[in-house]
Amino acid sequence: MYFPKVSEITTTEVISISRASTLAEAIDMLFRSNHRNVVVTGQDHYYLLSIYEILRLNREQQKKNILLETLELPKMPTIYKEKSIIDTLAYLHNDFEQIVVLNDDNSLYGIITQSDILSSIDPDTLMDNYRLSDLLHIKKRNRWIDKEETTLDIFNTMERYKHDATMIVEAGKPIGIITTKDILRLLKSHVDLSLPIKTYMVSPVETISQYCTLNEALSFMQDKSFKRIVTVDDEGILTGSITQKELISIAYTRWVRMMQTYQKELRDTNEKLEQKSRKFEKIAATDSLTGLYNRMKFLELFVSEYTVMVQRENALSLLVIDLDHFKQVNDTYGHNIGDEMLKQISNLLLRELRNVDILCRWGGEEFVALLPAADCDTAYRIAEKLCRVIEAFSLEGMPCITASIGVSQIRESDDLNEVIERADKALYAAKMSGRNCVKKATL
Ligand code: GH3
Ligand code: MG
Ligand code: MG
Repeated sequence: MYFPKVSEITTTEVISISRASTLAEAIDMLFRSNHRNVVVTGQDHYYLLSIYEILRLNREQQKKNILLETLELPKMPTIYKEKSIIDTLAYLHNDFEQIVVLNDDNSLYGIITQSDILSSIDPDTLMDNYRLSDLLHIKKRNRWIDKEETTLDIFNTMERYKHDATMIVEAGKPIGIITTKDILRLLKSHVDLSLPIKTYMVSPVETISQYCTLNEALSFMQDKSFKRIVTVDDEGILTGSITQKELISIAYTRWVRMMQTYQKELRDTNEKLEQKSRKFEKIAATDSLTGLYNRMKFLELFVSEYTVMVQRENALSLLVIDLDHFKQVNDTYGHNIGDEMLKQISNLLLRELRNVDILCRWGGEEFVALLPAADCDTAYRIAEKLCRVIEAFSLEGMPCITASIGVSQIRESDDLNEVIERADKALYAAKMSGRNCVKKATL
C-alpha cells in the first residue's frame, strides 16, 4: 500500500498575509482572490483568518484598520511537507479544516485541506459495503431551520457554533441551504440581514440518498466539489448531512486500523518465517544425533578458514578422530548406548577444543576438527589432549573408550580431499600402532 507524502497532496495556491497588515487589507485580499481563508504569517506561527473570524470581528464592530497582530486569531496546526499522509490523520480530529504545510526551513509551502486528503484516498480501499445511513448517527447535526427565520439570527448561530452550512426545511424536506460562501457574498453586497432566510437561501438543494455507499458519496463530493452532502430518505425527507471531514475521518480511521492489523500480521508472519528459516538453516547445517556441524557445513567453513589462512599467512591444521573398536560397543551394549556415547563424546570434544576450532561429525564414529592458527605441532598437542580426555571419560553404565587421531597441517596448494587423505593415512598409522594415540601426517 502506498502512502503519499503530504507534499504530494498539498495545495500550494494559498493566500498569505503578514501579521503586520491590517484587517481591511486581509478582507480585501479575500474578496479579490475568492478564497475563504487567508493564512496570516507571524514570526513563529501561522494563524487563520477565516470567514468566521471576519463575522465575529464584524459583530464586535472591530475597526477595519486594526493590525492583524493585535487580533486574537486561531493558531494553525503545521506539518512538514516530507511527512506521510498518515501523519495528517491526527489532525482530522481537531477543529481545523486546514493544516499549514511547511518547508524544512519552516517557511510556508501550502495548505492541506480535507479535499486534498479526500482526493488522495484510493476509492478501492474504502468499503463499498458501507452506506451513508450506517454513519449518519455520528453526524454533527447542523440546525435545520424554518424558512421564516431572519438571516441575521442564522448568521449569528452559524458563527457561534461554527456551522459551515445551514439547511432550510419545509415539511421535513430540504428546500434551501446557506453556506459560509453565501455569507461572504451577502456581506459583500450589503443586503438587509433582517429579512427571512428564504430571501437569500440557495435553492434547490442537491441531495443524495442516505442509502448510497461511502464510495458513491465520496465520488459525488469529488464530482460536485462539495464539502458536505445532504442526505435524504426515500421520501425526500432530510435525514442528515455529512461533511468530507467526517467521511474521511471514518474512512481513514478504518483504513489505518486495517493497515495496522495488516502490518502486524505481516510482521508476525515474517518473524515466524525467519524463525523457521533459522531453524531450517540449523537443521541443514547440523548432524541430528550429536548437534555438531555436518560434512556439508564443514566444507563451507573449511573454505572460509582456508581463505583466512592464505590471506593472513596463518597456520591451519586438521584432525581426523576415529573412535576405537566402536563396533564392539554397539555389539556389546546395543545401538542406543552407542548413540549416547557418540553424543557424550561430541560434547566432550567440544568442551576440550578452543572456541575458534570447528568440529564436525564426518560420519559414523568419525569426527573432523579444523584448528585455525595451529601448526602441526600445536595440533598434535591438542590431539594428544583429546585422546587423554576420551580415555579418561567414563559414565556410569558405559564402557570405556579410546580414540585414534590423525593430524595434518594444511598447505596452500591443498584442497580438502588431499588434507583429509593425508590425515586419514596418519589415522591408519595410529590404528596400526595400537590405537589410542596420535600420528602426524607425512608431507
Ligand atoms: P576401529 O578401531 O578400527 O575404528 O574399529 P571400529 O569398530 O570403530 O570401526 P568400524 O568401521 O569397523 O565400525 C564402526 C562402527 O561404528 C560401525 C557402526 O555400527 C558404528 N556406528 C557408525 N555410526 C553409528 C551411529 O550413528 N550410532 C551407533 N550407535 N553406531 C554407529
Ligand atoms: Mg572406529
Ligand atoms: Mg571409522
